[in-house]
Amino acid sequence: MNRAERIHKLEKNFNKVWDVIIIGGGATGLGVALDSASRGLSTLLLEQSDFSKGTSSRSTKLVHGGVRYLAQGNIDLVREALRERGLLEKNAPHLVQNEVFVIPNYTRFNKLFYTVGLKMYDVLSGKLSLGKSKGISKKETISRIPTINQKGLKGGVVYHDGQFDDSRLAINIAQTAIEQSADVFNYFEVNGLLKNGEEVTGVKAVDKESGKEYTFKGKAVINATGVFVDEIMEMDQPDHKKTIRPSQGVHLVLDKEFMPGKDA
Ligand SMILES: Cc1cc2nc3c(=O)[nH]c(=O)nc-3n(C[C@H](O)[C@H](O)[C@H](O)COP(=O)(O)OP(=O)(O)OC[C@H]3O[C@@H](n4cnc5c(N)ncnc54)[C@H](O)[C@@H]3O)c2cc1C
Repeated sequence: MNRAERIHKLEKNFNKVWDVIIIGGGATGLGVALDSASRGLSTLLLEQSDFSKGTSSRSTKLVHGGVRYLAQGNIDLVREALRERGLLEKNAPHLVQNEVFVIPNYTRFNKLFYTVGLKMYDVLSGKLSLGKSKGISKKETISRIPTINQKGLKGGVVYHDGQFDDSRLAINIAQTAIEQSADVFNYFEVNGLLKNGEEVTGVKAVDKESGKEYTFKGKAVINATGVFVDEIMEMDQPDHKKTIRPSQGVHLVLDKEFMPGKDA
């Protein structure tokens, strides 16, 4: 991943028309770059900061099979997410690990609800399951979560999901995309679009390290800029109405004594 060398090569090909240009090097953009390059399409990805510097290095780091979508009844999405979770564990075992969760229950209805729901989660994961869910007694729940509030506790449910290193996965995907002949660059900010009438025909970008300006022509330009997606849309249509309402999460880091034991 020698940046200077690759920029030199890029400058020699300044008239090239790329099959696909991707704006944004987070999980989405890098995934698209890998997919595109592995189909034999000439692929250029431009990231304004470092790879996965945005949301993609600040997640809760769970590779979940979409357990919360189960409660919403979105079975197809859960099935797909469970399949992807299993494939990720097989493809990147150095970055994905099995995490055991215990859900404490304070009503018998909740215990039944979670036991049945998580059994369904197991069934949907099929051969790519990370481990079987099961209901556990009050005694076992307390032994696994010694600091739990015991008043009214009825028992618990154990289930499995994945945990991963989000930014390292992004870097590995960037490396694999390069192996597949994609050109991926960090510290390249897209600051305008090339247009032929209504059609977007490329991008204008600046190398933030050297300050040098570039234009790149492409048959398809993909906006993978996450919460910044509207800024790119405004480059295309100045009267574009905002489509994203960002949400924010907070991660609290607690001392291990708050919750001793191995389970989440
Ligand atoms: C608090 C929180 C917790 C989460 N936890 C999980 C979890 O546990 N598991 C999970 O799977 N998902 C989780 N998610 C969701 C997941 O993190 C996001 O879906 C994912 O990271 C989005 O990736 P992205 O590539 O679409 O966006 P981003 O990671 O934001 O990438 C967009 C990139 O575009 C770049 N960019 C923007 N404008 C330009 C420009 N003009 N030129 C060049 N580049 C530009 C940005 O610098 C950025 O790097 C969580 C999300 C949040 C907010």
